Amino acid sequence: MRPNLLNPLFAAITTLTGVGPRLEKIYRRLFGRDQEPRVIDLLFHLPTGAIDRRARPKLRDVVPDTVVTVAVTVDRHRPSPPNRPRAPYQVYASDETGDLILTFFNARRDYLEKLLPVGARVYASGTVGLYDHMLQMVHPDRVVGEADLAQLPLVEPVYPLTEGLSLNQVRKAVDAALTRLPQLPEWQDPAWVARERFPIFADALHTLHRPAEPTDLDPEGPAWSRLAYDEFLAGQLALALVRAHLRRPAGRVTAGTGQLRKKLIAALPYSLTRSQTRAVADIVADLAKPERMLRLLQGDVGSGKTVVALMTAAAVIEAGRQAALMAPTELLARQHFHTIAPLAAAAGIDVAILTGRERGRERSDILEKLERGDIHVLVGTHALFQDDVAFRDLALAVVDEQHRFGVHQRLALAKKGEAVDVLVMTATPIPRTLVLTYFGDMDVSELREKPAGRQPIDTRTVPLDRLDEMGAAVGRALAEGRRVYWVCPLVEESENSDLAAAEDRFAALKQHFGAVVDLVHGRMKGADKDGAMERFAAGETRLLVATTVIEVGVDVPEATVMVIEHAERFGLAQLHQLRGRIGRGSERSTCLLLYKQPLGETAKARLNIMRETEDGFRIAEEDLKLRGEGDVLGTRQSGMPGFEVARIDVHGKLIGPARDDAMLILTRDPTLTSERGQALRHLLYLFKRDEAVRLIRAG
Ligand code: ADP
Ligand code: MG
Repeated sequence: MRPNLLNPLFAAITTLTGVGPRLEKIYRRLFGRDQEPRVIDLLFHLPTGAIDRRARPKLRDVVPDTVVTVAVTVDRHRPSPPNRPRAPYQVYASDETGDLILTFFNARRDYLEKLLPVGARVYASGTVGLYDHMLQMVHPDRVVGEADLAQLPLVEPVYPLTEGLSLNQVRKAVDAALTRLPQLPEWQDPAWVARERFPIFADALHTLHRPAEPTDLDPEGPAWSRLAYDEFLAGQLALALVRAHLRRPAGRVTAGTGQLRKKLIAALPYSLTRSQTRAVADIVADLAKPERMLRLLQGDVGSGKTVVALMTAAAVIEAGRQAALMAPTELLARQHFHTIAPLAAAAGIDVAILTGRERGRERSDILEKLERGDIHVLVGTHALFQDDVAFRDLALAVVDEQHRFGVHQRLALAKKGEAVDVLVMTATPIPRTLVLTYFGDMDVSELREKPAGRQPIDTRTVPLDRLDEMGAAVGRALAEGRRVYWVCPLVEESENSDLAAAEDRFAALKQHFGAVVDLVHGRMKGADKDGAMERFAAGETRLLVATTVIEVGVDVPEATVMVIEHAERFGLAQLHQLRGRIGRGSERSTCLLLYKQPLGETAKARLNIMRETEDGFRIAEEDLKLRGEGDVLGTRQSGMPGFEVARIDVHGKLIGPARDDAMLILTRDPTLTSERGQALRHLLYLFKRDEAVRLIRAG
């Protein structure tokens, strides 16, 4: 149960005065979440900067084109002439050193007469310009009378906005939200807070939303750092709780004979790379330990993680137990199944697949065999942790493309057996700081070498207006018998985007190249998708127009050309992931990144990195640096869960201390029942890590 103290912060945003259903929808879009926006979401919506209104010059000393706040007396109004209603409404004002015109377009006369009564002394704040040798302030940001001067925010925060939402609306809502902040118990260690000069949580929010100095908004300053540290600590605590939960009960020793692994190696058409061999050895050693395994297998696209997973599955099967391999999509699950099945068959291992598509008789057959232990490895999607899926003795759960699965899904699979060992595989390498952030202190194996015989990929960037040339180049590639992926960002043209539509592109290319062209996209039925992939893999079709459904795992070694339309819209990790679909065989491969001009700085940098390197570990590091610059699209598309307030590029150095802190806390108080432990529960809820709180009770 969420502590009652937090209820005001978790109230719907519509409980704030001035926020109705219309704005609610807009905030939902702004926060990019499916759930109803809460007061706390607004408080975590931090300003990107501030307008400094503290300059208070006399008119004589005003520096044109700067923001100032001036004290003036209103002399006279000059409304727009009746025959020219579009002409500006001007209000003449002065101080003892000079004159100023306040200029308004489309203003209502009665409103301005009330705001600026003749003879009154007012404070006007805004940008002053020099027009026709006259000082003018066009549409002052703020005008207040003498009595309201105290209300004039001299340092005014600026917020990220979206269509239909004004700065004033956000400021008002934030004002209301700030009044909901309760007095919360301090969850941080007092000594650490003192050392870092952190304000308390509520003060940090006040400082950031109501800065006294523009520097109060410095991300490296104490207020922002405090919140970032809070967020990291919440994350590290949650991870540590999950880990503690998984480690209990203690693991079982699973020691195989090596027989099946020998057969597998004999059946492989290649030999394992050194890092594959080492990874298998690490994992097998983990399995043989009495503690539970929680290991991350990192490897670039195409580095051969699947066979590592299969070898480790073999080790548990040798010990008479079972393994499961879970993938995030149907397509990928089938791909794994097809890769694994023939090798497994050669070693006498029984593999089955279970997804949402196996139903009725087929499904109950699989479940029966699984329970009897006749199926050794079960490959599948989320369908694997449905209630009626029961293993005879599940020893190892391999979770592919992990960051797409939530904590609970991971746990649900681990619960299907006694002390299940967990191996997590990532789609692309993740930089070390992020491994720590998202996985806590997991053991890590890395596949740094590419399998032998791979050719480098020739990557080029081409402006979209040379699309015709690309068509011709693709035509030549097809004529040479090559296989081509053509990737488009969206399936259907949505009303406010000009993304190339896969369906249109498909129609156009088909008209040109005929029956060798096919289409695969995310909204197709599973069987149709598989059909399209199979035809392409078999060479029946050779130009496959696709959306990002081919991003993950798809393996057609004969494909050697990839065209990515609107490459500037993709995140770096995703581009790398996509490109990893080619260059898998021994033929030379080409990747053409089509971009729309003009390119933004970040997009340009991304495409350059793609041209420069194929090393996923390096790309991951660069991606992190770039994403620090606030590229939301990249963050979303790379599939990484984002942070609410912390910024990895600025605050990354706080992750290490947060992890140590979390470990220490849980060593002393594993159930978070001490006074600080209770306070920390508040923290977990605030940053929506309350899944972890439930684990404490379950444990
Ligand atoms: P990923 O790490 O992206 O999941 P996969 O496991 O799908 O990579 O492997 C990519 C391709 O490389 C597959 O076709 C696989 O058969 C092949 N492969 C894996 N290991 C080796 C190796 N040591 N030598 C040659 N090819 C390999
Ligand atoms: Mg894979």
